[in-house]
Amino acid sequence: MQPKMEVGVLGATGMVGQHFVKFLNGHPWFDLKWVGASDRSSGKAYRDATSWRLEGAMPAGVAGLKVEDSKPGNAPKLVFSAMDASVATEIERAFAEAGHIVVSNSRNHRMEPDVPLLVPEVNPDHLKSIPLQQKNRGWKGQIATNPNCSTVVLTLALGAIKQFGINRTVVTTMQAISGAGYPGVASMDINANVIPFIGNEEEKMETETQKILGDFVDGAFRPHPMKVSAHCNRVPVVDGHTETVSVEFSNKVTAADLINAFNSYRSVPQERNLPSAPKQPVIYMEEPNRPQPRRDVERERGMAVFVGRLRPCPVFDWKFICLGHNTVRGAAGAAVLNAELMISEGLFD
Ligand code: NAP
Repeated sequence: MQPKMEVGVLGATGMVGQHFVKFLNGHPWFDLKWVGASDRSSGKAYRDATSWRLEGAMPAGVAGLKVEDSKPGNAPKLVFSAMDASVATEIERAFAEAGHIVVSNSRNHRMEPDVPLLVPEVNPDHLKSIPLQQKNRGWKGQIATNPNCSTVVLTLALGAIKQFGINRTVVTTMQAISGAGYPGVASMDINANVIPFIGNEEEKMETETQKILGDFVDGAFRPHPMKVSAHCNRVPVVDGHTETVSVEFSNKVTAADLINAFNSYRSVPQERNLPSAPKQPVIYMEEPNRPQPRRDVERERGMAVFVGRLRPCPVFDWKFICLGHNTVRGAAGAAVLNAELMISEGLFD
């Protein structure tokens, strides 16, 4: 058996950072040995610097680690980043410049013209932008990113049916409160309520979806020409973003074609049997009242997207509902799968 690779997490004390710590616990390839945060936390033991807010105990192997300054130097070569967006730009760049592989969950670098924004099933070929990034910036290291949590769910569902030619998509989200971090949305605002606004979320869904479903050719990202219109809402659900989607296709397509495409969708992470890859990344549910976040979101370790209620759309062609785990497939799990893909591509050699 190969020895495990030591890895670090930047922003490890925060909400997304804790999800990294939990998701990496027991990982077959990675051993979390380094945690970084702000100078409010550095020098303390992880257990003292962190208000652990996830179900289950803090992993014992991490509790005693000393929280480090977020500076390159003694960190492992591979670092996951869950840093506050106000500081991620400069710190992630400094790590990449110093030769680290930064696999980031933060929004800061996602739309840059030489940074891959990955959903490993949908656009693994976008990793071809890494040598360009290193050449452009003179870096020995690299930065790769995962999308916004609501975008991951949409792009996995659309990735499975992209071959039928997508012209236009309208998506309406019902997003869980865990996506807002901690303390997140005030209980007086979200209890028995819907908040029809999440800052910059609609813009992120529209542009990130086009980048992910697009191509990387001749050294440049070519966004998918489909038009995407997103309506984003926060709802009183703990985990799991539910999205209703209407799609207009350029080709004639039947319900059977679409359901077969959802269920048979397999890609590079499945072919390479990557440890965090779901066996079936998109699962079509036949029951008329599924998927539901409380019943379905934890299935497949939170790494699959569940689709249901496919029916004709009187305005576009077809409409359906999809659901994904926003803090797993939409955050920590997404980044860990990205790193597994990068290793399988030989990008760490
Ligand atoms: P959070 O709970 O506020 O955690 C922020 C982390 O950044 C903490 O570890 C904090 O350390 C660290 N930090 C703050 N200032 C720093 C500095 N000057 N230098 C180094 N580290 C610093 O935030 P979060 O909710 O986990 O979000 C983290 C990132 O993930 C954000 O970029 C956010 O946009 C993104 N996010 C993504 C999703 C998704 O689903 N994809 C969801 C939510 C958030 P201290 O504890 O020491 O302050």
